[in-house]
Amino acid sequence: MKNLHYSLLSLFLFLFLLFSIQIQTQTQEQQQQDTPITRFQRYLQINTAHPNPDYSSAISFLKTQAEAPDLNLQVQTLDFSPNKDKPILLLTWLGSNPSLPSLLFNSHLDSVPAEPSKWSHPPFSAVRSSDGHIYARGAQDDKCIAIQYLEAIRNLKAKHFSPIRTIHVSYVPEEEIGGADGAAKFVESKEFEDLNVGFVLDEGQASPGDEFRVFYADRTPWNVIIKSKGAPGHGSRLYDNSAMENLVKSIEVVSRFRESQFDVVKAGKAAFSEVISVNPVYVKAGIPSPTGFVMNMQPSEAEAGFNVRLPPTADPDFLRRRIAEEWAPETRNMTYQSVSYITILSTFD
Ligand SMILES: [Zn+2]
Repeated sequence: MKNLHYSLLSLFLFLFLLFSIQIQTQTQEQQQQDTPITRFQRYLQINTAHPNPDYSSAISFLKTQAEAPDLNLQVQTLDFSPNKDKPILLLTWLGSNPSLPSLLFNSHLDSVPAEPSKWSHPPFSAVRSSDGHIYARGAQDDKCIAIQYLEAIRNLKAKHFSPIRTIHVSYVPEEEIGGADGAAKFVESKEFEDLNVGFVLDEGQASPGDEFRVFYADRTPWNVIIKSKGAPGHGSRLYDNSAMENLVKSIEVVSRFRESQFDVVKAGKAAFSEVISVNPVYVKAGIPSPTGFVMNMQPSEAEAGFNVRLPPTADPDFLRRRIAEEWAPETRNMTYQSVSYITILSTFD
């Protein structure tokens, strides 16, 4: 009887263990399963950061999604770059009246680089923490948008929605570096003209809730580099007009301008997108030595770089004058170079 009791207990334990293992495997499987979140994570795990974005893996992932039976979209890959290594993916959901102007939803494939050592999780692991946060470079800018388009279409198709106008979804490369080989060539192409686009929705800002703010304009980015020159001299002497002195003066002037713009935002009189933002991004000076820099020598050249964003309401000439007269005046042996991502502004010295 006792033996039977033990046998039953062992059987029960065995079944219990088997059952818990099955449940555990199911939970793990669920995590690896196809849900909007896991699809998003898989897209995030593709390293599309500059300088070597893996466009082909990103395109092939999105293509597989688009061709799956629940989406069943028309798929086209275009490439206008000289080496044919910067592809554009174009998805199409045919409307019931394709002669009407179409709708285009755009997002970019590439991301800015990440410094893995500064991250709590590797930037392309797309780890999801227990509180639901997903860690990945490009999650907000702008892979969430790419996935949201697909999930929205998936939901609409599941509800048997059929659009009147044709809907296109485009995934473009090189946005983070100006888009010259991406969107810029795409919008000039015959293929784009044939889409007969009546309305475009591009990337905006990620939202933690279900509401999204629609922006109807974007700021123009400028890269401003200011350079100063002066006689080199011993570190012990107080020279006038040294390269470093002149650069530091300019950095102070730029910082004051930055503050004046930021103050307007802090006072609640304008949004971030409505003022000119200026951010220092690098300072280059000094004479290198095997252990760092020569410390008893004042260098003859120094430069600093700023990332500037102009709202559509700002006058570019106002800023050009300001750069020439205050940020890098000739009177202080300064020169400047400003490169806009936008081709029409091109470069000016
Ligand atoms: Zn973006």
